[in-house]
Amino acid sequence: MPRAEANRLAVIGAGPIGLEAAAVAARLGFDVHVYERGRIGEHLHRWGHVRLFTPFGTNSTAAGRNAILAENPSHVFPANDECITGRDHVRVYLEPLGRSKLLKDRIHTECQVVAIGRERLLKEDSRLDAKVGHPFRLLVREKNKERIETADCVLDCSGTYTEHRWLGEGGIPAVGETAAESAICYGLDDILGERKNHYAGKATLVVGNGFSAATSVVSLAELAASAPETWVVWLARTPSTLPIRRVANDPLRERDRLAVRANTLATRTDGNVEFHPHSVVTSVESLGQDKGFRVTARIGRNGQARTWEVDRIIANVGYQPDWHLLRELQFSPCPVTSALARLGAVLLEHRGEAGWIPPLTADLLRTPEPGLFVLGAKSFGRDSRFLLSVGFEQIRQVFQALTGKPVSL
Ligand SMILES: Cc1cc2nc3c(=O)[nH]c(=O)nc-3n(C[C@H](O)[C@H](O)[C@H](O)COP(=O)(O)OP(=O)(O)OC[C@H]3O[C@@H](n4cnc5c(N)ncnc54)[C@H](O)[C@@H]3O)c2cc1C
Repeated sequence: MPRAEANRLAVIGAGPIGLEAAAVAARLGFDVHVYERGRIGEHLHRWGHVRLFTPFGTNSTAAGRNAILAENPSHVFPANDECITGRDHVRVYLEPLGRSKLLKDRIHTECQVVAIGRERLLKEDSRLDAKVGHPFRLLVREKNKERIETADCVLDCSGTYTEHRWLGEGGIPAVGETAAESAICYGLDDILGERKNHYAGKATLVVGNGFSAATSVVSLAELAASAPETWVVWLARTPSTLPIRRVANDPLRERDRLAVRANTLATRTDGNVEFHPHSVVTSVESLGQDKGFRVTARIGRNGQARTWEVDRIIANVGYQPDWHLLRELQFSPCPVTSALARLGAVLLEHRGEAGWIPPLTADLLRTPEPGLFVLGAKSFGRDSRFLLSVGFEQIRQVFQALTGKPVSL
């Protein structure tokens, strides 16, 4: 049991990590509340058609599955080695966990945390050790009504998916990009499903060299099989002619298969994909509502300018945390990765090692502000190597540090 005077715990975000953390907190006797600005698993809903490349057994925990079965003994889970879509993960695991006895009255959906501070303290007031006894104040907005909630501990699990990065050189928007932003897809559209008509027979510019770009390009190439006019211009910053970096001996077969398929599409010359390595977008001009774009990029080693007219743009250029939420607290992220400061330093040491996961300790997760923890994809900042299994270990470490006892998930 946590100490009674430090019992109130606020979780920001009902994604896979926020929910799991809240379930552990409830099991350990914390008075936990989860504030979620959308639905349970909101970000997974948004890329719901995408198949996770890690199997269900590693995307769920025994404690979570038991909580669901305690509520509904006939609930059927996928097999541990099955790779299911984001949408199915929400349906078979996250939503039932949210409905379980542990959590059912503790999740506040459509409820956004707008800012966090401390009772009777400003950011610049006081030494950090004097902050104990000054609970956190959270400004929350639910159906346009605002209120204050208080908590002794805050777990920020608010993810990164909606904070996209920009197309232009140096990470800033390309000329004209901010004006065209609302017409550009910065995430993962359901190209073979509900957005099929939007892309079929169209020319699409895809930018990026991560697994999101690979997913978009592979889907567009598949669409081209039934709609042959579909054309893909694929630009990536990397000078490599194989844009997707494969993880050596990748244990995640689905991820490796995706990398191989995307790299094959980049190198073959007889398909509907033209790939340009070493490229960066310099300007985007919208040609009017649903009339497409004129995009100019510098391509190749000599930076030659080239312009395309395309119907669609998919900018899979990565995500980053929004740290505004914490700006009234004494907190600063790693200046290079935007991850948690200590964790970011470790991630940096292993930059370029695809698939590398840091050995996690509570020390790497601590922030200077007592009682504040950042977990999940947000804790990794711009680094896309975060996996759910890593988040579960983070939860274990944090609750072990909070209770002083071993915690299992
Ligand atoms: C396309 C894609 C595929 C992936 N595939 C895998 C995979 O196969 N295996 C794997 O292990 N990992 C995968 N990941 C990485 C990672 O596991 C996911 O990003 C995962 O969703 C991270 O979980 P999270 O709980 O940290 O954050 P999120 O799932 O991003 O959840 C954050 C939640 O916080 C809410 N929120 C944000 N701001 C606020 C606020 N101010 N107030 C209240 N609520 C707020 C959001 O609405 C959201 O529901 C994938 C990521 C992507 C993008």
